[in-house]
Amino acid sequence: MRIWFGIIEGVLGVMWILVRPDAELVWRNREVKERLAWYKAVMDNRKPAKYLIAKRVHVEGELKELSYEELWKRHSEAIKEFYELLDNVRNNDLDIESIPIASPNLIDLKSEIARRILRNCIFCERRCGVNREAGMKGFCGLDARTYVASEFLHMGEESPLVPSGTIFFTGCSFKCVFCQNWDISQHPLAGEPVDAKRLARIATDLRRRGARNINYVGGNPDQQLHTIIESLKYMNINVPLLWNSNMYLTLQSLDLLLEIIDIWLPDFKYGSDECAMRLSNVDRYYEVVTRNLKILADKNEDAIIRHLVLPNHLECCTVPILEWISKNYPKALVNVMAQYRPEYQVALYPDKWRDIARRPSSSEMSKAYTLARKLGLCFEPVS
Ligand code: SF4
Repeated sequence: MRIWFGIIEGVLGVMWILVRPDAELVWRNREVKERLAWYKAVMDNRKPAKYLIAKRVHVEGELKELSYEELWKRHSEAIKEFYELLDNVRNNDLDIESIPIASPNLIDLKSEIARRILRNCIFCERRCGVNREAGMKGFCGLDARTYVASEFLHMGEESPLVPSGTIFFTGCSFKCVFCQNWDISQHPLAGEPVDAKRLARIATDLRRRGARNINYVGGNPDQQLHTIIESLKYMNINVPLLWNSNMYLTLQSLDLLLEIIDIWLPDFKYGSDECAMRLSNVDRYYEVVTRNLKILADKNEDAIIRHLVLPNHLECCTVPILEWISKNYPKALVNVMAQYRPEYQVALYPDKWRDIARRPSSSEMSKAYTLARKLGLCFEPVS
């Protein structure tokens, strides 16, 4: 079976443009080009990925011997140098190849901080506080090990991303009753265990096979932060890194990612905490997700925000979400998604989840599109 997948992927690796011509045509759209300018420059190898710049930032000290607080202090200092370098790369075409990789560097520092967090896990706002390094598991069901369920060149993502070098991790911090990936999100061991070196090889190989980006997803990638950041120590290939997350991560996790991720693909599911609690068993959803998205907006980060339209949830979710984005993150592209279908618990117990036990109607989708258009959200070029 794997051989067939390899053959199909090999053919697609050459012929993908026939499968998704929109992936090329989308770059004729001026709005898309402007809003995803950094991503496109890295994708085309005109600029280096952020993580390669971070490797050029020297950090003083024996990191393993520093306290957690001291590590964060060094982080605040190091990112000043990172942003100076980034500005020079953006505006003055600084060639970072002329700067040697530092040792230790900002990636080493972030990796060490992530390791410490793993011992008292607060990667996401569940804030379980368990020592995953010692084998304990929190809400996501993962200890320190990282499992990859699959990795391939994804032809079904938004047009600017295709072919997307997608790595599906297992486990999730949410329990969505309609999850389409429940077989991996709710089964943390349903994959191949990978260490940081193996993950680096997977990402490097995906880029060599034609990936426009490395798409960390799942499940959800937030709970794998330690392995993903460590893998960057063993990677040197230029490729945009993409974070495809439920955005329920803590400020600490976000701080670790900001100087690494070139483009964000966040989910924005619920406009109401009540819906989030009932359908995903998650507390303070709206507050956390809008807080994190606002940070990305203030940093002018490239992003495509996904909103999956749920049936009967236009007024409570779709409307406030689209309004929030237009007010707070106008630069972001928005993908208003129509592909919801009853899956997982909803398919098993449709009477219990009556409000979402059907696909969104054409009239609901049309209302969502009309509103997005009225608010000036750039969503149409994105499939
Ligand atoms: S990643 Fe989130 S859910 Fe998993 S143990 Fe850490 S805080 Fe808990």
